[in-house]
Amino acid sequence: MIATETLQFYVNGKWEDSSGASHPVMNPAIGQVIANVPYATAAEVDRVATLAHKAFLKWREVPVVERVQVLYRYKTLLDKNVDDIARILSMENGKTLDDAKLSVRRAVQMVEVACGMPSLMMGDSLENVSRGIDSQSIRQPLGVCAGITPFNFPAMVPMWMFPFAIACGNSFILKPSEKVPLTPTRTCELLHDAGVPEGVFNLIHGDKVAVDALLEHPLVRAISFVGSSPVAKYIYETAAKHGKRVQALGGAKNHLVVTPGANLEKTVEAIISSAFGAAGERCLAGSVLVPVGDVAQPLLDLLLATTNKIKLGIDMGPVVTDDHRKKIVGYIEKGVAEGATPLCDGRGVNKEGYYVGPTIFDHVKPDMTIAKEEIFGPVLSVIRVKTLDDAIELVNSSKFGNTTSIFTSDGKSAREYASRIECGMVGVNIGVAAPMAFFPFSGWKNSFFGDLHAHGKDAVAFYTEQKVIMTRWF
Ligand code: NAD
Repeated sequence: MIATETLQFYVNGKWEDSSGASHPVMNPAIGQVIANVPYATAAEVDRVATLAHKAFLKWREVPVVERVQVLYRYKTLLDKNVDDIARILSMENGKTLDDAKLSVRRAVQMVEVACGMPSLMMGDSLENVSRGIDSQSIRQPLGVCAGITPFNFPAMVPMWMFPFAIACGNSFILKPSEKVPLTPTRTCELLHDAGVPEGVFNLIHGDKVAVDALLEHPLVRAISFVGSSPVAKYIYETAAKHGKRVQALGGAKNHLVVTPGANLEKTVEAIISSAFGAAGERCLAGSVLVPVGDVAQPLLDLLLATTNKIKLGIDMGPVVTDDHRKKIVGYIEKGVAEGATPLCDGRGVNKEGYYVGPTIFDHVKPDMTIAKEEIFGPVLSVIRVKTLDDAIELVNSSKFGNTTSIFTSDGKSAREYASRIECGMVGVNIGVAAPMAFFPFSGWKNSFFGDLHAHGKDAVAFYTEQKVIMTRWF
């Protein structure tokens, strides 16, 4: 247990108290306060940005091969502390311990890829572009970059950002979700132990006040955001208005399509993990199940029987806050009111903490609220369709375009689906098609605002500016 301490900010290489008002951090499994988190004021953000800029001016001069040594040491420390980070993460977020560990391992992979920055940020060159003239392009860091992150992956999502940013030679300010500030505090302690120079990485906590101060600050050059779509859109517009480079990843409504002939046992296993894993609090969670033709009934029979075996508190944790629990319950009520058929109903769980049980609605219509809006809880809506064309039309009518999966044994259907579907991440017989660290996390439509996505080569392009140099010697 962590005592109900008041958390500090990590600024310019030191832990310090904030003058901002403190707010409770909850353990959602028991509904109790486990710490207090102060929210940064605009003046505090200004001071951090100024110090981070000073640090950037020194850090950019450090050769990239030396910069990544910090990350090599960081990776070793993270590896040694996976269990500890996962325990803290599970305590404040509600994920099961195994799931928390997996997410920390995914975070470490980001650091591993960023360690390759000497190769990744190489430019191009061409001899004799004109007689006696050579040309080369180089990548240079931007300056102070800031990250604003959501509650659902408090170790991994910040690491989609800062390992790449600092390896490129930028300094970084992280403002994680105020709901889960303990995990970023622990991962920041380890970065300090890895020897990150003062001011190169900074951690502050806060709400809209801190975020707005970052969006408006003249020394902040780039904003990386992950969170819900309305806030992502606001971040994109506001940061762009202040002349910043922005990548803003938003929410989702992900469809899982199943064709006749799919391997039902493996498909059901993948659907359950996609829809109910992490209590549905993943931006890649399957939220709408789309059985094609006569696969619907056998699929649903097996899905329901398997879902009924899920044990709350063991296989599935609570959702993050009581407010979020109430919001999910509100969506279930709406599903009932709009005429969908509940096959299992996760309301009224008799258990301490913020639990919602797995919920499946059959005979959902595309215009129902539960079919269109992101619920971000363990609620799966089933929309039955006749053909693969109907499925594609349905999925492409969504305003979101984060991910989708098709479960099939027919290669032609899989190929056609992957080609025609308007989503940035596609799974074929995979329930959660999360790209590894060396590929971009490429949501489309209202799931992403910007041009360059998180991690992979996009991150290198996002956190650097290109310069083209033409040379002639007389
Ligand atoms: P959120 O949008 O409520 O908060 C995200 C961050 O924005 C937090 O740091 C929060 O402090 C800040 N914030 C909240 N409201 C703000 C406002 N009005 N102005 C400025 N800043 C504000 O999201 P959340 O509830 O923490 O996370 C869940 C959401 O994140 C879901 O919609 C999920 O789909 C999305 N998500 C998306 C991805 C992706 O890759 N696309 C990954 C993880 C989560």
